[in-house]
Amino acid sequence: MTKKSPQTSLIHSEYSAPAGFGAFTVPIHHASTVLFKDVASMRARNWLDKSAYNYGLHGTPTTFTLEARLAQIEGGEYCRLAPSGLAAITLVDFAFLKSGDDVLVPDNVYGSNRVLSDWLSTNFGITSRYYDPMIGAGIADLIQANTKLIWTEAPGSVSMEIPDIPAICAAAHARGVLVALDNTWSAGLAFRAFDHGVDIVMQALTKYQSGGSDVLMGAVITRDPALAKLVETAFNNLGLGVGMDDVYLVLRSLPTMKLRFEAHDASARIVASWFKNRPEITRMLHPAFSDCPGHEIWKRDFTGAAGLFSVLFDKRYSEEQTDRFVDSLKLFKIGFSWGGSNSLAVPYRMQNMRKDWKDQGILVRFNIGLEDTQDLIADIEQALSRL
Ligand SMILES: *Cc1c(COP(=O)(O)O)cnc(C)c1O
Repeated sequence: MTKKSPQTSLIHSEYSAPAGFGAFTVPIHHASTVLFKDVASMRARNWLDKSAYNYGLHGTPTTFTLEARLAQIEGGEYCRLAPSGLAAITLVDFAFLKSGDDVLVPDNVYGSNRVLSDWLSTNFGITSRYYDPMIGAGIADLIQANTKLIWTEAPGSVSMEIPDIPAICAAAHARGVLVALDNTWSAGLAFRAFDHGVDIVMQALTKYQSGGSDVLMGAVITRDPALAKLVETAFNNLGLGVGMDDVYLVLRSLPTMKLRFEAHDASARIVASWFKNRPEITRMLHPAFSDCPGHEIWKRDFTGAAGLFSVLFDKRYSEEQTDRFVDSLKLFKIGFSWGGSNSLAVPYRMQNMRKDWKDQGILVRFNIGLEDTQDLIADIEQALSRL
């Protein structure tokens, strides 16, 4: 074909990046259709081969770049993105569980993971059982012949217990059971999950990797090729693709993640140190403080902390009073999620969430953002006076 009509020319303009052009940024490849050079290579496609491009849903250079960087941060080999942290949890469950299997889930697990686990139990022929997050090596007594997966979370993102991951992994591996960790809190920076025995790492990139309170994304990271293949199969069957613009936003935020994480950590410890001595609260639930269950394990296994902590108000304060406290905060906004620049506060009814919860006061969780810590402390102080 020598001369194309204008309409065809509009469509068939071929693009490739100019030779000699260099930049720090990763191009955003928006693609559903990915081109094969001939029929033979189209027929030879293999969805599980991540060095090849097959179809936009399975990855473009943009997604593959983010996946490689996340695997590197975590000390893993293989990574799959998912459209949210919860979708990444779903990917793990579908990759490693089938009808007739049993899964153990910590009692303090991220709320939506619990709802999903219950749904797997009621509708999909899997049994989900909950265990005390501080169980450690005692998990061995709960493992059954059909137990395939143990979920862990470090710490529980509301009640903040730090579990003994190496002890849980040792007990699990002795019985051929896999351990998955929701490692969102440490962002892969403050806890070397694979070195502590974890088989599968899940991250909500919505938090520190994004850092902007504007992206939903998740990731599943593994080290073992056999496990990666199961994740890949589940991914392909579920079709959990991510938008390229969102992937770009995460790629753009990653270079500053460590600095942001350390700033959140330092600020949270300053605010928590002040808060800890206030007569209104009975416990400071921050892994770096001795009130927190698993504080000694945190000292042993972790190299830092995130910007998250919870406080327990004395039981003499009614829910009406603690709600008034949260409503009176001005810099701290009310809303879910964390890892962004803005500070947040959310009250939780722990007695409704956990059968085993013994403390009586109201729990309020704080996400410490990147504001000046003295302004944050002043805000909490004025709101406490409204209790
Ligand atoms: C936010 C969060 C998730 C879920 O991430 P989404 O992207 O909001 O679905 C999972 N686990 C933990 C610990 C989280 O904090």
